[in-house]
Amino acid sequence: MNLKDVQNTFHKELDPLYGKEEVDNFFFMLTDAFYKVSRLDLALNTKYAIDNYDAIEKALQLLKDEQPIQYILGETEFCGYPFKVNASTLIPRPETEELVEWIVKQQSALNKQQLHILDIGTGSGCIAISLAKKLPEAKVYALDISDKALTMSRQNAELNNVNVEFIEANILKSDTWNSNLENMKFDIIVSNPPYVREKEKKQMKANVLNNEPHLALFVKDENPLQFYKAIIEFSKSNLNSDGVLFFEINEFLGKEMIQLLVDNNFKDIVLKQDIFKKDRMIKGRKNNE
Ligand code: GLN
Repeated sequence: MNLKDVQNTFHKELDPLYGKEEVDNFFFMLTDAFYKVSRLDLALNTKYAIDNYDAIEKALQLLKDEQPIQYILGETEFCGYPFKVNASTLIPRPETEELVEWIVKQQSALNKQQLHILDIGTGSGCIAISLAKKLPEAKVYALDISDKALTMSRQNAELNNVNVEFIEANILKSDTWNSNLENMKFDIIVSNPPYVREKEKKQMKANVLNNEPHLALFVKDENPLQFYKAIIEFSKSNLNSDGVLFFEINEFLGKEMIQLLVDNNFKDIVLKQDIFKKDRMIKGRKNNE
């Protein structure tokens, strides 16, 4: 057996599920990660053989079960940086890269030497760590309710060589905010909280629904803005005046999010679409009373 045979098996078993091109992408991502064999290596030597095919055969089974390739590889890329992921963390999305870029572009408007930034619900740490990379002057904090997610995000900070302070707390329960957090003031608070309503489950892809952490995805139909409301409450005491909130949002709740920020006296509110033309992020500045 050689790798070409394995590739043929991949196509036979997976093309009906994913299509030929995607299967080739998966196959070469796996040969590269597991055996350091690239697409080019295989083109130059069509009889390329390796000692042990267990890892790639196991990956084939997982792909047949519609496990996301990022979880199989245990790693993905976000804003050009490597991030480890597992089933305790959402897989970073390209829309969220746009949120990071937006913050980086806006931060100069704050005109401050050292920005204090907090990411709420950090998961893999992708937002906080990318901001720490792109804004080396900033002091970045990241909070999550899940200690498993925090284990991953701490590893990712190390992998990317940045200093981020991680805090375990539930933003919905002020009694879990330790006195440290209670006394901190931030210039930017960012969050990509759970925002998919239970009733939207029907439209979700099986690979997301069956594999990614529901804790990071879903909110009750009756209170879909629960996390934003809690963060806005938190920001009343912990966001500096003129500080800015940045949120990733549910594409169907843009109007409601604008209203929520207006009702809470935020100004300079901007709703922004992602590359897929969906209302996906919003920002608002705290009023300087
Ligand atoms: N954008 C993600 C999805 O569609 C949801 C992210 C979130 O709930 N914060 O799966």
